[in-house]
Parts: sequence; structure tokens; C-alpha cells
Amino acid sequence: MNIIVCIKQVPDTSEVRIDPVTNTIIREGVPAIINPFDENAIEEALLLREEHGGKVTVITMGPPQAETALREALAMGADEAILVSDRCFAASDTLATSYVLSSAIREIGDYDLILTGKQAFDGDTAQVPPGIAEQLGIPQVTFAIGIEAEGRKVRVRRLLEDEFEVVEVRTPVLVSCVKQMNEPRRPGIKSKLAAKKKEIVIWDAACISAEACLCGFDGSPTRVVRTFAPTRSTQGKRFEGEARDSATAVVVALIDEKII
Ligand SMILES: Cc1cc2nc3c(=O)[nH]c(=O)nc-3n(C[C@H](O)[C@H](O)[C@H](O)COP(=O)(O)OP(=O)(O)OC[C@H]3O[C@@H](n4cnc5c(N)ncnc54)[C@H](O)[C@@H]3O)c2cc1C
Repeated sequence: MNIIVCIKQVPDTSEVRIDPVTNTIIREGVPAIINPFDENAIEEALLLREEHGGKVTVITMGPPQAETALREALAMGADEAILVSDRCFAASDTLATSYVLSSAIREIGDYDLILTGKQAFDGDTAQVPPGIAEQLGIPQVTFAIGIEAEGRKVRVRRLLEDEFEVVEVRTPVLVSCVKQMNEPRRPGIKSKLAAKKKEIVIWDAACISAEACLCGFDGSPTRVVRTFAPTRSTQGKRFEGEARDSATAVVVALIDEKII
């Protein structure tokens, strides 16, 4: 089973800061990690490979420093790593990102499964996985909590709000993964050192036959008009008196605010 895992390097913080002038994410001074949901996707790919054989290829579109994320994935056990990087990819929105990644996946060829995270910690749109599936003309299953493979089919367990759904689909298929899916393995020092010596393939726009007009700013129909942090209310409400009366008052207040 040949599995491609799309991983994104994201800032190690839930407090993403935006440059008010350029409207882009401020990455300077913030340590970078593999997007947490993508670690679940890597883990699932490794488990499937352990059961069915085959190969796990990790791929990221990003600047040269995104290589660190690929090395971590190699340390976890991925077989191959590809960095898709070109100046003309800068300022790509989700459509252009999906175009670049799907072009790279076409170049890899011969895959059964594409795994992604449910969404990225920083951009948070969850648009890239469906974008890739659409551009490749393959089915997609989102919010996966489990995957079973059998021949040319996979059975995917999806996490819905109050229930699970099981979807059976023929390969090749793209599946986006949630964090409840598994516990990603933590590579030891030996694996990390070995990963440092592994080759990382670097592809630019020409290598994946990507048209410059469909990448970066030119290929991005989205324009960020304004960014701002939501104001947080620091005002609280105190409920005093007997515990029983206070508890009742809290419940009434929550009902009034339509929170419960
Ligand atoms: C107008 C505009 C300009 C932008 N300019 C820039 C810019 O200059 N620089 C910049 O860094 N960002 C820029 N962005 C943000 C960039 O478009 C998004 O970071 C990117 O498209 C991914 O979207 P997301 O973070 O919402 O990912 P999601 O769709 O939430 O990610 C879901 C999953 O898709 C996969 N995935 C997402 N991105 C990648 C990737 N790059 N490589 C591999 N797998 C991936 C991962 O598996 C991830 O878990 C811009 C966005 C807009 C709208």
C-alpha cells in the first residue's frame, strides 16, 4: 500500500499573530512543529504500512526550513520525504496550495491513499484536503478516526458530532485525520540521528510541471481584506449566596445566553 502524507509545518502556538501590514502569519521567533493532526496522519500511515507493507512518503509545501518537519516524519518512520518549494509558491491561498500539492502528488504517482490532517493549527481552514482531492479527481473522506484497508477498498470510521459513520470507498482516496485516531509515536534519539542522514527530495515548480500563473499570488483568488484579533471581554459575573441558589442562578444565566 503506497501512502502519501501531506504535512504542514506550523508555529508551536495556539496564539497565531498576524502582521497587520502584510496580513500574513508572523513566524519569526516562534518555534515550528508538525501540525498536530498531521502527526496522527503519519502514525496511521505507519500502522497501515506495518500491516499491509508498501511505502510512506511525506510531502510538504513550504520554505526551505520546512525540511525540519520532514526530518521529524522520517524519524517517526516515513520512507521518503519531499519538500515542494519555490519562490513562486509564496502568498498561495488554499486553492493555490491545493494546486501545488496535487501537482506534486501527480508527479509521485502510484498511490493508494493520501492522508492529511483535519485542519492546520495556524490557517485553520480545512480547505486544502478537499482541494487536493478535487484537483486529483479522487474521492475524499474527512474527520477519520480509523482506517481499515482490504484490497482496493478502505473502510473509514468518521467522527461526527454525536455518532460515528463508516464509509467504504475504493482507492485511491484522500482521508483527513482527527487527533482521536491514534497516539503518534515519539522517535528516540537513534531514529532522529538516522533521519538526519536521509535524503530529502526538493522539487520546484518545474519539477512538478506547475504553471506559475496558478501558484502564489497570481493563482490565489482570495484576498485578505483585514485581519484583527477578537476583543476579549474581561467582565465576569459573580453569583453570591448559598451554593444551591448560586448554581440555579448560573444555570438560568447560561440558558438566557443560549449557551445551554
Ligand atoms: C490571500 C492569502 C495569502 C496567503 N499568503 C501566504 C504566505 O505568503 N505564506 C504562507 O505561509 N501562507 C500564506 N497563506 C496561508 C496559506 O494559504 C495556508 O497556510 C495554506 O493554504 C494552508 O491552509 P490552511 O492552513 O488553512 O490548511 P488546512 O486546509 O486547514 O490544512 C489541512 C491539512 O492540509 C494539509 N496541508 C495544508 N497545507 C499544507 C502544506 N503547505 N503542505 C503540505 N500539506 C498541507 C495538512 O495535512 C493539513 O493538516 C495565505 C492565505 C491567503 C488566503
